[in-house]
Amino acid sequence: MAFMKEPEPERGVAHEVADGVLRLVARNPGIMTYHGTNTYLIEDKGGFLVLDPGPATDPQHIDDILQATGGRIAAVLLSHGHTDHIGALDELCARADAPSYAYRTPIVEDFVPSVKLDDGDTVFGLTAIFTPGHAADHLCFARGDGLVFTGDHIMTWSSSVVSPPGGNMEQFVASLKLMIDRNDPSYLPGHGPRMDNPRDYVRDLMQRRIDREEAIYRALQRRPLSPSQLSRTLYSKTDPLLQMAAERNVLSHLAKLEREGRVVQRDDVWTAVPERHVSAV
Ligand SMILES: [Zn+2]
Repeated sequence: MAFMKEPEPERGVAHEVADGVLRLVARNPGIMTYHGTNTYLIEDKGGFLVLDPGPATDPQHIDDILQATGGRIAAVLLSHGHTDHIGALDELCARADAPSYAYRTPIVEDFVPSVKLDDGDTVFGLTAIFTPGHAADHLCFARGDGLVFTGDHIMTWSSSVVSPPGGNMEQFVASLKLMIDRNDPSYLPGHGPRMDNPRDYVRDLMQRRIDREEAIYRALQRRPLSPSQLSRTLYSKTDPLLQMAAERNVLSHLAKLEREGRVVQRDDVWTAVPERHVSAV
């Protein structure tokens, strides 16, 4: 996989990453977040649109956003409700006196966005693309010039974790297919650097999931296994956190295979259902 790497970005300073778009990286580096969450400051006539305020664990980041925008924030947009994106939302909206825009059915129970978005809605020149899979409320945002903010649906430094029950593998693969069909020229992800000409990369991401699922099914045809046995067999992750993430991905593949009637579960052990041979009559 052609994952992109980059040196640690300068903290507290917004850098231009596209025409009229500044990137500010929060101080929440980690094995799942790379250098940290990307907050995008998108210039608009009425002030800045802030996409993904970042985590609640980095109060300095909120100050940095207010400083970089001069406090002129027209709206705060959210790609999805995971804590590393939504954590700072309430405080930023309050301090900037700005409305929030997010998917109409947020995964965070007590969060009600000021403006509820649906697939295809256009706000401030950005079109919301409903892309569930990584999270059930995930939106990408497309600008008219071909630039797409892909959140955690498509990251450039790593593949995304699809963790049930919030994550759903059928939806994730369908949302990848949707992005391949759109064929947008440039991505700005929720973590990691900008990627241009991403179509082959997204095709590879999708193929990897298809291959992984077949590998899981074939392993279960040989013998029944638990999800942790499967992830140890199929992934060679040494870091315990990555191993846990791998197991979450395995679980969402298993849930998909189960819905398709290809595997069955008893307690923690999964077994392949023999493939039906359709005979011509
Ligand atoms: Zn994230």
